[in-house]
Amino acid sequence: VRFPIYVSGKVVKGFGRGSSELGIPTANIEAEVIKSIPLSTGIYFGWSQLSTTEDDFKQLSKDQQDYLKSILVKHDSKMFSPVYMMSASLGYNPFYENEEKALEIHLLNKFNCDFYGLTINSLICGKIREEANFISLEALIKAIHNDIEETRRQLEIDTWHSFKKDDRYFVNL
Ligand code: ADP
Ligand code: MG
Repeated sequence: VRFPIYVSGKVVKGFGRGSSELGIPTANIEAEVIKSIPLSTGIYFGWSQLSTTEDDFKQLSKDQQDYLKSILVKHDSKMFSPVYMMSASLGYNPFYENEEKALEIHLLNKFNCDFYGLTINSLICGKIREEANFISLEALIKAIHNDIEETRRQLEIDTWHSFKKDDRYFVNL
């Protein structure tokens, strides 16, 4: 495959393990877009931007709206967040033996609210490693923290850093 690969889809509910068991929330992407991703399973790094139409925004809860207003900027009839670094997992999560292939995106940024229902537009820039199973939850968490550090290192490299501002993929406001 040739990187980068652009993927866009809505954030849906998963099993809720990311935050509670791992302390690392992952935005799970709707199943429909996953089939068309031309990538093998594994852990990847890249950039993501949240977006929503103004109509979809109005469907969110009052609390979500209040918080998201502080990060989303209006542009035409849509709203966009800044572009964030992200680590992504594509696959079956061997540790949990899932049967459905999932794309889960962890944004390297702290949010005080969830963003189910928003769209997440992502540019996958490269692969970090294969999916792996781990002997313990602790070992899994350690591996994810390594992936996050590797993501920061890779995204500092000019080739990958420049995609953050690339208006073919993102709206920079
Ligand atoms: P789920 O199993 O439903 O995906 P998680 O425990 O993995 O639940 O939490 C993911 C949700 O948390 C995301 O859908 C998003 O709404 C929210 N969230 C908050 N902060 C982040 C972040 N930094 N990266 C990804 N998702 C986040
Ligand atoms: Mg998740």
